[in-house]
Amino acid sequence: MDFITCPWCGQRNPADALECRACGGPLPVPGSDPGPEPPPPPRQLPKGYKTRVLWKNAPINAIGLVFFTIGAVFACLFPVIGLASGLVPLLCIGGGLGGLFVVLGGGMLYSGIRTGLGKIRPYEIGRAALGEITEIYRDTSVDVNGRNPWAVRYQFEAEGQVYEGRATTWKYAPKLHQSGDRVHVLYLPDDPEQNALYPPLG
Ligand SMILES: [Zn+2]
Repeated sequence: MDFITCPWCGQRNPADALECRACGGPLPVPGSDPGPEPPPPPRQLPKGYKTRVLWKNAPINAIGLVFFTIGAVFACLFPVIGLASGLVPLLCIGGGLGGLFVVLGGGMLYSGIRTGLGKIRPYEIGRAALGEITEIYRDTSVDVNGRNPWAVRYQFEAEGQVYEGRATTWKYAPKLHQSGDRVHVLYLPDDPEQNALYPPLG
């Protein structure tokens, strides 16, 4: 039996299912049929999707949070120990190192969360348009243990102009789509460069 992995939460579903049995999210319809239209905004995202985008699929955010927390503890603790014990180098080195980690971790966390929210926002409040797949290729600019993800390019018209979008996936994209397939696209009306396929590729 064929399965389809839910792009919202990762649950495996029978290939002919329309909705995920775990999170209720709409599943992609392989082929040229774009599937049911997205509901009007604001949309409630399927359970688990935000967590997936912001944390599970972005380990850098978790690392940033750990750096930030350890740094904050160092930055607070070492000056106190240094003052209490009169060990000034301990105060300076520990406190300074802590401060560095706070800045480093905070920066990672900030840019990671921003990128994640950029992915999520079109789903929550984006306007819907009908688009078309223009290209499917292996993204050789990304290499993880000798593997490349698939990239899917699409075009859509928004506010009287043609825009292009791109989505990547570790799934075997040619099984999901081909050039010329019609797809639903969600975009931010005041910045259509921020857009996403609906449902996501996963
Ligand atoms: Zn799901």
